[in-house]
Amino acid sequence: MSHAKGLIFLGPPGSGKGTQAQLLSKQLAMPHISTGEILREAISKKTELGEKAQFYVYQGELVPDELLLDLIRERFNQNDIQSGWILDGFPRNVSQATFLDKLLLELGKFSEQVINLEVSDKRLVERLLLRGRKDDTAETIRRRLEVYREKTQPVIDYYRQHCRLTSVDGNHTLEEVTASLKEVITI
Ligand code: AMP
Repeated sequence: MSHAKGLIFLGPPGSGKGTQAQLLSKQLAMPHISTGEILREAISKKTELGEKAQFYVYQGELVPDELLLDLIRERFNQNDIQSGWILDGFPRNVSQATFLDKLLLELGKFSEQVINLEVSDKRLVERLLLRGRKDDTAETIRRRLEVYREKTQPVIDYYRQHCRLTSVDGNHTLEEVTASLKEVITI
């Protein structure tokens, strides 16, 4: 059976993973799935999901898994992503990673590559403060970086143990990082 390609982007807030994922999505014609975007849209439209998620997003905390897992499952059943996808912002903790593994195994048609964008702390904070999103205040940034270390860093170890991780240095310019990504992505 032929395998469709999936890219999972990992990296701390401010690492540029959203920007790179969006760019590559256009260039490689693979839809971009960003849980942060989905949540921000739900919040601005005041949907039930948005009402429930808002508190966590604005505090820099992770939204509880139960708000996201069905949504991810549904997204992976939609037609547009059947020949490939780029996931950004999910998984954010080990239980989401094991959920995704099980889901992908069940679907049985995707071969995924996990990419970790590495950026120094100093640059992360600089970039986040420049971005000026509603959850990019100094205090929320601090909390989001803490949450990243506590909950998301173990996801990197999880994929590393399963030998499925490619790390890319994200400290360079947008164009340089895109070029490095294209070198390591095996489509
Ligand atoms: P992002 O745009 O990926 O930086 O996500 C913005 C915010 O949305 C995060 O700080 C979390 O509050 C929430 N969020 C996004 N993705 C997830 C996820 N996979 N699990 C839990 N919360 C998430």
